Amino acid sequence: MHFLSFTPIVSLLMTFLAVLHVSAAKWTYGGPDGQHYWPKKYPYCGGAFQSPIDLKSGLLRFDPTLRPIEIQNYNLSPNEQLTLGNNGHSVQISLPSKMHISSLPHRYTAAQLHLHWGSSGRLAGSEHTVNSKQYAAEMHVVHFNSDKYPSISVAVDKSDGLAVLGVLIEIGEFNPAFEKFLRFINGIKYKDQKVQVPGFNIRELLPARLDEYYRYDGSLTTPPCYPSVLWTVFRNHVTISRKQFLAMASSLYSTDAQDLAPVSLNGNYRRLQPADSRVVLVSFKEGKGLQGTLTVTSPLVRKGIVQQLLVGDLADLADEGLYQLLPSGSEKLHGKKKDLKNQESEAPAKSKQQTLNSSLWKKSQTDRSVGKLGLAEDALCFVSLEQRVSNQQIQAHAGDQLVQAVRDAAFPELNLRSYLDCKSDLALPTIRHILHRRPTDEAYELEHSLKIAFNKRKTSPAIKQSVPVTKYGGFSTATVPRKPHSQGYPHPWLLPMEWED
Ligand SMILES: [Zn+2]
Repeated sequence: MHFLSFTPIVSLLMTFLAVLHVSAAKWTYGGPDGQHYWPKKYPYCGGAFQSPIDLKSGLLRFDPTLRPIEIQNYNLSPNEQLTLGNNGHSVQISLPSKMHISSLPHRYTAAQLHLHWGSSGRLAGSEHTVNSKQYAAEMHVVHFNSDKYPSISVAVDKSDGLAVLGVLIEIGEFNPAFEKFLRFINGIKYKDQKVQVPGFNIRELLPARLDEYYRYDGSLTTPPCYPSVLWTVFRNHVTISRKQFLAMASSLYSTDAQDLAPVSLNGNYRRLQPADSRVVLVSFKEGKGLQGTLTVTSPLVRKGIVQQLLVGDLADLADEGLYQLLPSGSEKLHGKKKDLKNQESEAPAKSKQQTLNSSLWKKSQTDRSVGKLGLAEDALCFVSLEQRVSNQQIQAHAGDQLVQAVRDAAFPELNLRSYLDCKSDLALPTIRHILHRRPTDEAYELEHSLKIAFNKRKTSPAIKQSVPVTKYGGFSTATVPRKPHSQGYPHPWLLPMEWED
């Protein structure tokens, strides 16, 4: 009797302890708890839109709307004490909340900065690479969306939660700014050790030019790998001396001071992740492989197009904006545009003085300050989808455990689909889905024109193979297939969008 009544409690307790163990699970970069095993304990690490990625020419799209990064209150007084710590995975400096990025649609408040590096035997340890080139190290200045979330811990798993500035570091000239904290590094040799260091000008850790950068949507590069990071990786690297590099790479341990088997802290970079169907926006135009690159994928322009599809003048789109709805294909689009206009002369040709591009530009500039685009964003983006699922769970009186289980199992997949809509090129099925809500002659003609245009583009070998139409009826699939696709449109995950209804 005792046993019978006790058993459920004991088993509950065991479950609780098991959960505790998982949440406190250690992770490392190599060995049995290494990167290969992260997805087992942290499902997002095996999900979509992970970081880092190789910033290679083929992924880049010039986006003229990307403003220079503006940072505020980075110049800290020596009277302000900063905490420099070894957390077993990196060295980290806590940053005061007055530091923030002011050039993004929301205020992103600084929380901490940390580094990733190679080892004394391998002077390469950056996380992002540029056309496969790995730099010696990389610094991340982590910020959270303080307009929307009260703290970094609340923001960390939200799709618009974090903004990280990434700085690539090469070995070269001695860097006096990095020395401001590296000179204290012997005080934090072991895990969990902390020292106070005088404040200094954090701006000096960044490259001189803050207007040239790569921008893409990615994730934390450490567990739990939430796909919540708006990445800005500066185009220009900074240097530190070999001696400065070795101070990090050979004097730190990932184990605590009491550990009888100390483990060196180096090689703390995550391996490259698939680009999925992402593109990388760049704020600069010059440079190899970028000439003539046309942006159709800027989030703001894309939102503008979606808005146009939802409520705008479809005849305008069919006339001037048709080529913008096609998957981006760099400079080829310019040529295609002419072809299309000749071939599709039956499309309603409406005279207009202003090109769609410029009207969208204006629209996006106005919307930027508002920070939302109503319908377009709500209908298609991850945030609203996540909220919808959560609300349904609450209505169904689902317990906390169920909510958590759904988060772990289903949200990585939700991410994939919704991020594709919000953060990659518009695909034909998405456009058609939107157009179905507008049963007008213009909608029909636009769809017809697009179908022909898309079919034409399929003649390119990269997108030749046709994709089977698959039904997505529920959220139950936990696995996220890894289908390599570079320019493969339409993306199979985007075909029907029943999940939206
Ligand atoms: Zn990092």
